Amino acid sequence: MSRIPPLSAVVRRLPTGVPETEVAPIGRLHSVETGAAADGPGVRFVYFLTGCSFRCLYCHNPDTWRADAGREITLDEAVAEIRPYVGFLKRVGGVTLSGGDPLAQGAFAGALARRLHDELGLHVALDTQGALGGALGDDWFDPIDLVLLDIKHADPERHRMLTGRPLLPTLDFARRMVRLGVPMWIRHVLVPGLTDAADDLDRLAERIAELGPAVERIDVLPYHILGTHKWAELGRTYPLAETRVPTPSDVAAAVDRLRAHGLPAN
Ligand code: SF4
Repeated sequence: MSRIPPLSAVVRRLPTGVPETEVAPIGRLHSVETGAAADGPGVRFVYFLTGCSFRCLYCHNPDTWRADAGREITLDEAVAEIRPYVGFLKRVGGVTLSGGDPLAQGAFAGALARRLHDELGLHVALDTQGALGGALGDDWFDPIDLVLLDIKHADPERHRMLTGRPLLPTLDFARRMVRLGVPMWIRHVLVPGLTDAADDLDRLAERIAELGPAVERIDVLPYHILGTHKWAELGRTYPLAETRVPTPSDVAAAVDRLRAHGLPAN
């Protein structure tokens, strides 16, 4: 009779701090993009993983929200997707884990980041809202070269109204990245009437300034409506149907407001 091993022999704790079986992690992938120019430095290969704890009113990827959306993929298959581009990406950019929020699949995303960074020698960026990072051990972030951190709103109440979730875990995540020495690019979506008030931008600037030189760059991203059709396809009503997109001068004004605080805004 074969002996069934005790659970402790089958389950180990990966360096991520997340329990995982000996079986190679399985993830769920929404899509990949091979030549992205706005998801980190240079040209990026982007993995869009599924799952997100936020429900942003302006989300252009609501089809990534559900953890069981997308297609199942093994770690080896995910690495195989990028192999044809590795030489090119090493010269011109790297890889970005995005979503959804990649931290919704902490074990898989962490194992993938290690393979991409340690085995393939790629620059690895993590695009996240940060709120799910508290479940991960510090060494999960060893292979992360850069965090692209979305701060949706600087006011706790308006953050909850905009995303459905509290602001504090995102700020705690940012402070933790400072402590771990992981550089950050902060990203802030400018939505007229929701995130563009002068005092809200000042408050955002104060929160970012507290993070010090770990913040290398701030990108003000104009709200857009390219994903609204996905809400209809999912049978949902798009909540910002009446909201206009910002003009270039709206964006320039927000950038100037952040720069007035001495911040590296673009
Ligand atoms: S954090 Fe990103 S993926 Fe998640 S709901 Fe907000 S915009 Fe959508």
